[in-house]
Amino acid sequence: AVPLVNAVSTSIAARNGLLIRNRTQFEEARTVDRIVFDKTGTLTEGNFGVTDILPAAGVSEKELLTLAYSAESQSEHPIAKGIVRKGEADAIALLPVTDFQNLTGQGLQVTVDGMQIAVVSPGTMDERGVAYDKETFAGLAQQGKTVVFVLKEGLLQGIIASADIIRSSSHEVVAALKEQGIEAIMLTGDNSRAAHYVGDQLELAQVFSEVLPAEKSKHITALKAGNKKVAMVGDGVNDAPALAEADLGIAIGAGTDVAIETADVILVDSNPKDVLTIITLSKATYRKMV
Ligand code: ADP
Ligand code: MG
Repeated sequence: AVPLVNAVSTSIAARNGLLIRNRTQFEEARTVDRIVFDKTGTLTEGNFGVTDILPAAGVSEKELLTLAYSAESQSEHPIAKGIVRKGEADAIALLPVTDFQNLTGQGLQVTVDGMQIAVVSPGTMDERGVAYDKETFAGLAQQGKTVVFVLKEGLLQGIIASADIIRSSSHEVVAALKEQGIEAIMLTGDNSRAAHYVGDQLELAQVFSEVLPAEKSKHITALKAGNKKVAMVGDGVNDAPALAEADLGIAIGAGTDVAIETADVILVDSNPKDVLTIITLSKATYRKMV
């Protein structure tokens, strides 16, 4: 009878927007204690719009956007896509780009028209010891904005801030998890203020920010301590090791191939709320099998 039950619940799952890749892990979802969510593209739509272009002294807004637009034209990151949309909207002319180097979870480095350009996170600025106006940065980040810094030959050319939107379904899923006694946690590479802005809006139990891609899976290991069952929901290349390390890896359907190939369950409609369906269905499957 077991294969029949499995077949039925697989089609029920499919009808509910779930693609199950690992049935055993899926069924274990009924006992999950903690669900860890990636921020960008998971709890938020991952659709950034540029809100602020703040050139350094002696640099024009157009010059700053030209450098950032040209550099980011080579990247698939949601921040890059937002900057590219802004460049296109302002009809900025692209400069030739060579030597593209992705600094995963930190930004990128390229040669733009012979100039060494880097577009990087605040954490990377601190690491490199490049000074910037902390007050301006804090003011932007406090509003939940993601802030990147544009460097030319190591010198700051300006700041570009972007805003993303929290998915409306994120509020519902976090509230429902709380009701079931399941902790909702965020793990993000974004700056701590922007991360806490989203964390506060959603009333998350814990927020881990400025986490480098290589460190995401270590956080999952730590959260599993004390025999806690941990699920991870993510969309990015940088989330894949964490999805693998979690007891249950869940990928956003619109996410990257690497995330989808690593996950146990895929949210076909890219709706984080479908995590609740996983829990409901895993409970139902279990009841049928005993
Ligand atoms: P998340 O965990 O939210 O998906 P990432 O690990 O992809 O975030 O990125 C972390 C941070 O690295 C970003 O908030 C940004 O500061 C920086 N970053 C990543 N990619 C880029 C890029 N293409 N251009 C500029 N900055 C980037
Ligand atoms: Mg993401």
